[in-house]
Formats: sequence, C-alpha cells, structure tokens
Amino acid sequence: AKKIGDDQCSFFSHELSEIALHRQRLITELKSTDVFQHFKTVYQPQLSISDQSITGVEVLIRWIHPELGFISPEDFIPIAEDIGAMPNISRWVITNAKKELNETNLIPEKIKRVSINISARELNIEEQAQNLHQVFKENLDFAKICQIEITETTAIYDITTSQKFIESLKELGLKFSIDDFGTGFTSLSNLKNLPVDELKIDRSFIDKIETENNSQIIVKSVIDLADNFGIKSIAEGVENENQLIFLKNCGCDEAQGYYFAKPMGIEDLKKFMAA
Ligand code: C2E
Ligand code: CA
Ligand code: CA
Ligand code: CA
Repeated sequence: AKKIGDDQCSFFSHELSEIALHRQRLITELKSTDVFQHFKTVYQPQLSISDQSITGVEVLIRWIHPELGFISPEDFIPIAEDIGAMPNISRWVITNAKKELNETNLIPEKIKRVSINISARELNIEEQAQNLHQVFKENLDFAKICQIEITETTAIYDITTSQKFIESLKELGLKFSIDDFGTGFTSLSNLKNLPVDELKIDRSFIDKIETENNSQIIVKSVIDLADNFGIKSIAEGVENENQLIFLKNCGCDEAQGYYFAKPMGIEDLKKFMAA
C-alpha cells in the first residue's frame, strides 16, 4: 500500500523542479541578446515637495515575456546579477532611456535629472564597474543629468572598490542616491565614506507613516540625517495626501509615488510632461 508520505514527497519535489526549471529558463533567456526585444523602460516622475514641480524621473525596467507575461524586476534582476548579466542590462537601460528621452525632446529642457537603478553588486565588481563607467563615458551629455540609485540586494562587501568607482563616475558628472535607505546594508559608518548626494527613504516606512509611530520616527530621522550631511532626501511610494503632509512637515525635499504618477511608458510621459 502507498504511504501518505510518498505522495507529499513527490508533490514537493515536483514543485521544486518547477521552480528550478523556471529559473533555468530565465537564465538561458537572460544570457541571450534576444531578450532585449522584450525589455521596456518606464519612467516615474519625482517632485519637489515645496512647489510640486517635477525634479526628475526614475527609469524602471520592464520585461514583457511573450509566453510568460510580465516578469517583475524583483524576480529577474537578482538572477541577472547571479549570472553576470547586469552590465549588458544596465547598458541597455541607459542607452534606451537616453534614446527615448532624446527623441521626445524631453531632455535636456523639460527633464533635468534622470535616475537610473544600479545594483550595489555591479559597482563592487571591478570589471562591471569599469564597464558602467565606459557606458557613461560614451554618453557624456546624458551622464551629466543622470543620478545613480544604488540598489542593495546584497551588502557592499568591499566599500573601497565601490567608493573608487563612485568617485570616478562623479567625475563624469553623475550624482548618487542610496535607494531603499533604512532597509539595506548601508550603515552610518559607510555613509560617511560614500560621496552620495541623496538618501531615498524606502516605501515600507512611508507605507506605515499613518499607523506606526516607529515609522514616523525613522522617516523623520533619515530626513534629519540627510539634512545634517548637507544632502537631499526623497521619499518613495507616496500614495496619499496624509503621507505627503507628514513628509512636508519633516522637511523632506522630494517625493515619488502613485499619489503623483505611476511609472509610465515614454508616450504617456510625454503627455504627462505636456499637461
Ligand atoms: P525600487 O528602485 O525601490 O523601485 C520602486 C518600486 O516601487 C518600483 O517597482 C515602482 O514601480 C514601485 N512604486 C513606485 N511608486 C509606488 C507607490 O506609490 N506604491 C507602490 N505600491 N509601489 C510604487 P518596480 O518597477 O517593480 O521595481 C522593483 C525593483 O526592481 C526596484 O525597486 C529596483 O530595485 C529594481 N529595478 C527596477 N528597474 C531596474 C533597473 O533598471 N536596474 C536595476 N539594477 N534594478 C532595477
Ligand atoms: Ca530605485
Ligand atoms: Ca527604492
Ligand atoms: Ca523600495
């Protein structure tokens, strides 16, 4: 007779192999340049809290898979990092955003700053960081209006490597922001060594501003911290007026979120900027 345990066991191993197969499929596709046909860049406006003027846009990648549908960057970016595919992806994001923003004449007049997400891991691997430097060097006018949002999926192990490349990229005119500040691995002692221009407060704190006193304290502290360092603060994931009022009262400089605009394709961005 069959034991109950057998069924469960095959059920789990079946699930696991499905996951492994899915991952393997994404790996294979991410290694091919064909994947770029299905990538798209979307843009989310960032606003000044004091006068609600648009200060810039953040570029976010989209993978619209012909068979699997929408694949979130939160799912495929870590895989791309693991297999060393990020340099090619970042190159694609930077050149595609530049092309689209140029063709629509949104840069340099209407949009003064373009934020690009770069994994901390990429800045920490000598060869990959050099590659990134090369891309911006080839696109020097664009580099001058770009700001890199350092996204941490893992700790910046060797801060000196990152520091060296941040400095060399700053020489090209790039600005730097620490993304998801408060949730990542950037400690206060790292902060004093990193020449960054902005702290970006993670959405998870903004989410709980209305319900959690501790989140209010953290948000206020990060804004003060940025202020004391003489750098800017921006809040991500702002979804309602109450959150905005709290941020304004704390002296936060900028905000981004569904309350103002969702990430949108270049055509919608053009309309948004014209309105
Ligand atoms: P992130 O940089 O923290 O981006 C913010 C995420 O929050 C985006 O999700 C954005 O669409 C979403 N968002 C913005 N406003 C709101 C809001 O008001 N409410 C809610 N609920 N969500 C909001 P997305 O586009 O799925 O990106 C997820 C993450 O993937 C990014 O987090 C970033 O870490 C990574 N990523 C996206 N594009 C790139 C890229 O080109 N390169 C790299 N290295 N990473 C990227
Ligand atoms: Ca970001
Ligand atoms: Ca973020
Ligand atoms: Ca976040």
